[in-house]
Amino acid sequence: AALVTVLFHLGEMATATQSLDEATFEILGQEIGWNIKIVSAEEEDRELLQQFDIDLDSEQEDQDDKDLKPRPPVVTVMGHVDHGKTRLLDTIRKTNTSAHEAGGITQRIGAYQVTVNLEGEPRKITFLDTPGHEAFTAMRARGAELTDVAILVVAADDGVMPQTVEAINHAKAADVPIVVAVNKIDVEGANPEKVRGQLTEFGLVSEEYGGDTMFVDISAKLGTNVDKLLEAVLLTADADLDLRANPNMDARGATVEARLDKGRGAVATVLVQQGTLHVGDAIVAGSAYGRVRAMLDENGKQMKEAGPSTPVQVLGLTSVPTAGDVFIVAPEDRTARQIAEKREATARAAQQAKRRKVVSLETLNEQFAKSEVDMLNIVIKGDSSGSVEALEDSLMKIEVSDEVGIQVIHRGVGAITQSDVDLATVDKAVIIGFNVRPNRQVQELADQEGVEIKYYSVIYQATEDIEAALKGMLKPEY
Ligand code: GDP
Repeated sequence: AALVTVLFHLGEMATATQSLDEATFEILGQEIGWNIKIVSAEEEDRELLQQFDIDLDSEQEDQDDKDLKPRPPVVTVMGHVDHGKTRLLDTIRKTNTSAHEAGGITQRIGAYQVTVNLEGEPRKITFLDTPGHEAFTAMRARGAELTDVAILVVAADDGVMPQTVEAINHAKAADVPIVVAVNKIDVEGANPEKVRGQLTEFGLVSEEYGGDTMFVDISAKLGTNVDKLLEAVLLTADADLDLRANPNMDARGATVEARLDKGRGAVATVLVQQGTLHVGDAIVAGSAYGRVRAMLDENGKQMKEAGPSTPVQVLGLTSVPTAGDVFIVAPEDRTARQIAEKREATARAAQQAKRRKVVSLETLNEQFAKSEVDMLNIVIKGDSSGSVEALEDSLMKIEVSDEVGIQVIHRGVGAITQSDVDLATVDKAVIIGFNVRPNRQVQELADQEGVEIKYYSVIYQATEDIEAALKGMLKPEY
């Protein structure tokens, strides 16, 4: 009650149960003679690394201009569903990677690099192979700022659509320059000029119209002008960005995709952003750690080292990191393990705190029998950490009403297992399988327990269904 009085004098109308914002907390601390410091998760992690003599800030500032070397731009493809993002990524991969020259087979590892001739000079571009702003934003949420340039794909026969606008907003929020690929110009009724006109409304004005955004009319299907598009990416990067990094330091970057492989254990694709990663380096990515046993490029070729903007598949981690987890090189194996374990413990504590909060909220509701919030519990299993993250991110954005909400109680990479069904039974959850299925035994168990398992391979279909389910949970009004 005394605290409430202090708060009252600060101009805060607080009740005894209300939670306070951070600034209020700090002032409150001063009032009662305590020095309260609110530490964000990010700062906490920074402090943890400092205990091991790893100082991200000072290293960044210490970069000497002469140590910085040009690096290839990293590109994400975004746009409305069915406008041709996947087709474009496939066409670029097929026509521009070295795999077909060497007769090799290109594997999807989450990212790939192509070489383009610009004014007679060979230049590289790195593509992130999971299209869409959902994956892009899910990675950013975990601290990974990987993308330098966004290609916005707009189908010329369809024009600007809702997800086109979302993609623009997400790219703008991240301060990432956009190159527009006006796709499907081979289709009858394609109207590239209309797309140019529509996009001016969103601040994307083509050079022909006096703006500074590059537009390229392409056909991802036929491969028309895809070379021009790649040139436009390089020209935009050269004009807007100063893409340089120091290759001669311990590597740092982010996890692009990760999964558990039956034969090879944890397999993670990382993108090196600074420094050079070597076979034998001890690394930590989120709460996964290990020594780099081998590195492979997208053609399955073994690599000994990987410099800035290079994506590589890394073998040797003891567990599977999450897409977007930042990775660093630790001075020795032991340090890597200790950092990973501390992070794991912090994450667990945070989760427990969250759970406690939910419980107390429910008790409150019971006590006051107020308008209850109905939660739809969900378990997500998917084929890669990237797809799981992207799906969860999209589901969390669904808003139907204040009375109903979603709670993802568990998520993971891999097939749907008995323990998933068990959890769903206990917490009355629906299981979502994204490109994964259970085996027969597990399916039978689910049937027995009355646990619903839904399968999807497209994010928006899942969000549509869940939204419909939430609407169904709304109590009829009398
Ligand atoms: P995404 O949802 O944006 O990844 O779209 P997709 O790449 O899956 O493409 C959606 C559909 O459009 C597929 O059937 C593609 O084959 C087709 N498509 C993509 N690009 C072109 C194009 O340039 N011309 C034509 N005619 N069809 C295309």
